[in-house]
Amino acid sequence: MFEKTGIPSEEMVRGKFPSIERINKGPVAVVECYKEIPCNPCQDACKFNAIKVGEDINNIPQLNWDNCTGCAVCLSKCPGLAIMVVDGSRSEEAILIKIPYEFLPLPKEGDLVKALDREGRYVADVRVLNVLNPKSFDRTPVVTIEADRKYLYDIRNIKVEA
Ligand code: SF4
Ligand code: SF4
Repeated sequence: MFEKTGIPSEEMVRGKFPSIERINKGPVAVVECYKEIPCNPCQDACKFNAIKVGEDINNIPQLNWDNCTGCAVCLSKCPGLAIMVVDGSRSEEAILIKIPYEFLPLPKEGDLVKALDREGRYVADVRVLNVLNPKSFDRTPVVTIEADRKYLYDIRNIKVEA
């Protein structure tokens, strides 16, 4: 299915996530790069040496979850918008998700937006906690949302109504 649609299976998605124990410790990246492609800005973007592509630029990036601080810099540098950050340290019920978002209008802190899954289907209404859009992110803002923990492996995007 992935070869035809580009949509990863649940098994593929879960294989990119760290353990729930790591997620509950604090923010950590999830790098959803599934195919060998000539690309490595994520590696250069990470000042914590958490992402490694290596000498062969076609390698699939490997993430060292212990080194990752969840800073979200790599989200803004990935041309494929393939990286997000998840954080389960806030509460037992909720999960925070940082998502690169390149559409307009940008949401604002406190807005309710629609969370979507990897097929673009509606998952739930979620609250926007903040929007980071510094110059260094080069027009790829990062939106942090808070969602019910049960959607941890489902949410991959948001839709903002104009
Ligand atoms: S979120 Fe920050 S620390 Fe983690 S891999 Fe990306 S750039 Fe590195
Ligand atoms: S920058 Fe994005 S698309 Fe390129 S290798 Fe890294 S995660 Fe994959």
